[in-house]
Amino acid sequence: MIDLHTHSLFSDGELTPAELARRFEVAGYETLAITDHGDQSNIDLIIPRLVAFCQEVNRLRGIRLIPGIELTHIRPEAIPALVSRGRKLGARLVVVHGETIVEPVAPGTNRIAIESSADVLAHPGLITEEEVLLAKERSVYLELTLRKGHSLTNGHVAKMAHKMGAAMVLNSDAHTPGDIWPVGRLHEIVAGAGLTEGDYRAMIRNAESIAERCLT
Ligand SMILES: [Zn+2]
Ligand SMILES: [Zn+2]
Repeated sequence: MIDLHTHSLFSDGELTPAELARRFEVAGYETLAITDHGDQSNIDLIIPRLVAFCQEVNRLRGIRLIPGIELTHIRPEAIPALVSRGRKLGARLVVVHGETIVEPVAPGTNRIAIESSADVLAHPGLITEEEVLLAKERSVYLELTLRKGHSLTNGHVAKMAHKMGAAMVLNSDAHTPGDIWPVGRLHEIVAGAGLTEGDYRAMIRNAESIAERCLT
């Protein structure tokens, strides 16, 4: 199993990257992206450290790690430049913190994240049909989330993505040990959003292809 959206204490997660990785490994995950919250003030601190850590750990046996960033509460017009700055700093995976209905994320964030070709648009809230189509065209993956609050709109995201044929991934957005779900129960989240086992398997394949791209 793969999780492409997690937080360490480089932002508001509780665990060091090493403990986060270990706990996911014990829970049955083979690949993990660490995607701490970033903005203009901190991406140059977070990304190079995660890159160095992941490189070192990936030389050893065990869980594979992907250094990423979650661009969070950025003014939409600043997102494109920050996506490329994140990649230049070495982020292999750029997630954008989408328009969840439980936080005052700036309107327009979903659309600009997609136009900027972020890898994953996290918890996109009440994403519009037009944005879902654009995500499909730009090969930006839409996220179903395990995270409380953000997951309130999973049903909407699932319905829209399914209707328009856009690709989805399932991520924990874990901040604490209690946010790490047993692999054997992940399919329940997908079923709870009204999707099928086939959709769940497609989401696993999507995560595998993103991970492969990030790890090479
Ligand atoms: Zn957070
Ligand atoms: Zn997050």
